[in-house]
Amino acid sequence: RAKNEGRNTYRFFEAKMGVEVRERRLLEHDLRHAIARDELRLVYQPQKVVLSDTISGFEALLRWRHPTRGEISPAVFIPIAEETGAILQIGDWVLRTACREAASWTQPLKIAVNVSAVQLYNASFVGELHQILLDTGLPPRRLEIEITETALVRDFNRALAMLRQIKAIGIAIAMDDFGTGYSSLSNLRAFPFDRIKIDGSFIKSVNSNGQAATIVRAVLGLGRGLGLPVIAEGVETAAELKFLQDESCTEVQGYLLGRPAAIGSFRHYTHGDVALDESDDVTMRPAQ
Ligand code: C2E
Ligand code: MG
Ligand code: MG
Ligand code: MG
Repeated sequence: RAKNEGRNTYRFFEAKMGVEVRERRLLEHDLRHAIARDELRLVYQPQKVVLSDTISGFEALLRWRHPTRGEISPAVFIPIAEETGAILQIGDWVLRTACREAASWTQPLKIAVNVSAVQLYNASFVGELHQILLDTGLPPRRLEIEITETALVRDFNRALAMLRQIKAIGIAIAMDDFGTGYSSLSNLRAFPFDRIKIDGSFIKSVNSNGQAATIVRAVLGLGRGLGLPVIAEGVETAAELKFLQDESCTEVQGYLLGRPAAIGSFRHYTHGDVALDESDDVTMRPAQ
């Protein structure tokens, strides 16, 4: 009997694996055509300065609406795109689209774009960044790329060389998901980061879990000591915001401050009236 059960369990896994492999192949295939079929879009999430209560910029987040499966999470399709190499084309589209969008704003807000390790290690990446800034006219200081620690450990020296070249253009670099990777502390010193993003998983339990609060305090202290501003991700409640305010966190991002959404819903911020006298045609622009 045990033998039979074992065999059945095995068959079950085999069948399940078969489905997963097929699913994945389909997604791989469909992802290759997603740009041409106009299935990708960017949503934008505001980043807020705690002290002044003003928006400093937006993070661009990629969305894929599959024709039959509906919305697929980037947590699912980005790893597939990385493995197949499709991320190079997709990443280029993301950067170009985000920079073009930001260049059209009347406010000089920053645009943060996630960049994967595969893009960073690609020999033509820095040249492409340069070209995108030239083509869109976005000043380099308004672009920030977000890199995770895991992207750095694959080839330390190469990553360092790439980040230095990116810095030299004038682009800012943020360490994303800080605290979830490894060798964080030495990485912070070795690489030319402009700011730290504390991962949302620490913020979530800041008021219920003493350890999470201790870690967040430590990261904020680290940022102060190294002269690096810290932005907290995934801020969902007023209590979390209060904690971060009390601990002098520089910036916050999360559902409490604004969910990622089409940029048109933030028009008040991107097309505010400060710059109106500089370009009088701004009110003529169609809403997006
Ligand atoms: P990330 O860069 O760390 O982005 C933060 C994620 O947290 C986003 O998920 C965002 O929608 C979500 N989030 C924001 N505020 C809150 C909150 O208050 N509570 C909770 N629970 N979540 C919040 P999303 O958009 O699903 O993206 C997941 C990850 O996929 C990103 O993590 C990033 O690593 C990757 N990703 C997204 N867009 C791109 C892209 O254009 N290129 C690359 N290479 N990766 C991307
Ligand atoms: Mg990010
Ligand atoms: Mg993050
Ligand atoms: Mg993340």
